[in-house]
Amino acid sequence: MTSYRGPVFEMAVKQFEVIANYLSIPDDARPRLLLPKRSVTVSCPIHRDDGTTAVFEGYRVQHHLTLGPTKGGTRFAPTVDLGEVAALAIWMSWKCALVGLPYGGAKGGINVDPSTLSKRELEALSRRYMQEMIPFVGPHTDVMAPDLGTNEQIMAWFMDTYSMYQGQTVTEIVTGKPVSAGGTLGRREATGRGVAHLVRRAADELKIRLNGSTAVVQGFGNVGSIAALELHNMGVKVIAVSDHTGALYRPRGLDIPQLVRHASSQGSLDGYSNELALDPAEILTVPCDVLVPAAVERVIDAGTAAKLRCRILAEGANGPTTPEADRILEARQDEVFVIPDILCNSGGVVVSYFEWVQDLQRLFWEEEEVMRREYQLLDRAFDRVLARSKGENLFNRTAAMAIGVERVRGAKETRGLFP
Ligand code: GLU
Repeated sequence: MTSYRGPVFEMAVKQFEVIANYLSIPDDARPRLLLPKRSVTVSCPIHRDDGTTAVFEGYRVQHHLTLGPTKGGTRFAPTVDLGEVAALAIWMSWKCALVGLPYGGAKGGINVDPSTLSKRELEALSRRYMQEMIPFVGPHTDVMAPDLGTNEQIMAWFMDTYSMYQGQTVTEIVTGKPVSAGGTLGRREATGRGVAHLVRRAADELKIRLNGSTAVVQGFGNVGSIAALELHNMGVKVIAVSDHTGALYRPRGLDIPQLVRHASSQGSLDGYSNELALDPAEILTVPCDVLVPAAVERVIDAGTAAKLRCRILAEGANGPTTPEADRILEARQDEVFVIPDILCNSGGVVVSYFEWVQDLQRLFWEEEEVMRREYQLLDRAFDRVLARSKGENLFNRTAAMAIGVERVRGAKETRGLFP
């Protein structure tokens, strides 16, 4: 019995079972690896602009404390619940372990549609959430970061609220902050850059020439827009993009720099062009060389997996592919090369780790240094995943997750039952 419920949590459980079976982990050792160490639910009351009071529910799940502090983003979205946050925390654990960061996974969130709040209300809610979390987080216990629906400004409010309580500035309490508030150069771009870098590695592996090839990107937030821009700069024609307001398609390639400018000034793709509009339901099955789902979980189910017409599936989002879809993609391994989410989007947490290290040392790096080190860790993880999948004839996700789960398991075995 567990209090974590819902389709996203179920998905994290099923994925883990596949790996646990593959690694022959005994049944009695499984719950200890899978179930979160700690979770907190808080009520966050705020004064609305109209004078009324509203209460929003917030969560934080810390998956395991075996390798160091827990690390992970904070999501503001109307879908957020304890089960979704727990699944995302578990994925953060496998991700951090795969790329070799000294962290366990965590995730947090508030059940709220941030677009319905004024800036003042958003600040009040962000500060109240951090205030409620103060007993549970700390630079050496749990370090937050942005995720869907949160941004640098919200991280600055989190940092400020925590710092005021401590009576001193504690920049290392969150990552993904603005550079002006102790953030690192290259964090904002880190996830999208990492996605594009790994696409290049996959293309080299498959002997695909990226210059002149085609890409489709679902999601045009921080991850999708930067990934699209980086691919565009590599000479890839980005032929379709989408966000929550709609989709655009241009077989000769979209003007990505212009779209990025439009999205950052208007807040979304809406209003860019009516002529280029595409049914958003079709975006994932547009034939292309590189498909980047960079929105939310569970968008590729079994039906969609069978219809994918891409050579490389670069999972910028967390959990975009269901376990049922995985079975189909495993059978289609020779047609579709999957860069699994915990590898593909790990550039974000890698550079968060660099931000934390710089904050702790009060010593800041040049952007080139940040990027060089990011690509170095990503390359190492990519090589390990590929060696494992080739050596044991495995699906890429199984190889990536096996490496992550084994590392956490090994640490738990050497430390004992407590952490
Ligand atoms: N929310 C991001 C993720 O899912 C970043 C986490 C972090 O930087 O700690 O990987």
